[in-house]
Amino acid sequence: MSEIRKNLITGEYVILAPERAKRPSDFECPVKHEAPPERVDNCPFCPGNEDKTPPHNYICPDAGAWTCRCIPNKFSALSSEGDMWRNEEGLKVVMAGVGRHEVVIETPYHNRCLAVLPDEAMKCYMSTCLHRFNAFYADPRVEHVILFKNHGAAAGTSLEHPHSQIVGLPMTPAQVRYRAQDACDYFDDKGSCLVCRTIEEEASDGRRVIMETDNFLAFIPYAALSPFHTWIFPKRHMPCFTAITGTELDELAVVLKTVLWKVYKGLCNPDYNYVIRSGAPSDCNADHLHWYVAIVPRVTKAAGFELGTGMYINPSIPEASAEFLRDVK
Ligand SMILES: [Zn+2]
Ligand SMILES: [Zn+2]
Repeated sequence: MSEIRKNLITGEYVILAPERAKRPSDFECPVKHEAPPERVDNCPFCPGNEDKTPPHNYICPDAGAWTCRCIPNKFSALSSEGDMWRNEEGLKVVMAGVGRHEVVIETPYHNRCLAVLPDEAMKCYMSTCLHRFNAFYADPRVEHVILFKNHGAAAGTSLEHPHSQIVGLPMTPAQVRYRAQDACDYFDDKGSCLVCRTIEEEASDGRRVIMETDNFLAFIPYAALSPFHTWIFPKRHMPCFTAITGTELDELAVVLKTVLWKVYKGLCNPDYNYVIRSGAPSDCNADHLHWYVAIVPRVTKAAGFELGTGMYINPSIPEASAEFLRDVK
């Protein structure tokens, strides 16, 4: 019998359809792509081609050969110059498309994705992300910052060299506001943070847990919208990613890399997106907001049903997917 589960954090419903259900091993890709070389002459992100990109805004380490490099996006979605303005004329609402858009080049190696980076390089990547989060929020025009990665064509990437993107918007997107409002309503009603409650419940249940460390819990949500959709929650209540401590950041680097390795190894390097969903530093005292990381392997496609309903059909069972990833070493 099918089951409709509700995700209280996102407010979304999902149909778990056992008739369509696949075993975790059915998602393994049958075609092995040829691995790209370590360096590609005409790749703008490969070492030696730094003059083919705008000058970096941040580099790690700050001396010697770079491990991680952050540059303005040549094809920025937002204008980096100009002031914020907003106009309303009848039903037409328009505002200045100003903000920040940068690319984080994750590694000098053209063929090394995050899943296979050494821990030290991964820590360098995470500290670069944190530095840019802080730098973006220091821009008075920026109201909301989002960090994301598109890995593979099905996840929307256009350049093969491993990179993430960070965008600083001059407004807060509707979906972010709705979820924050739901979290606030939950807090009003129950007197606790919904994410903190979820951590307690998932950790003690254990069936959907992929891995747990002192400061983080990685698990597949009870109402995961798609196969292997994974969340990494910091255990300490923190509305904004910028509140993370050095110890927590190093631990997150290892947890993120380990989960990505499990997805890479277990599912044969699928396309995926990952995103850091966080409140702003100005939310730092909010009792109801709690930042987290979401990883979404693109092993199924959203289609008309999803477009027409905002609901998803997941042909996998979260408990079975978590057990599968838990066992990938
Ligand atoms: Zn490259
Ligand atoms: Zn919390």
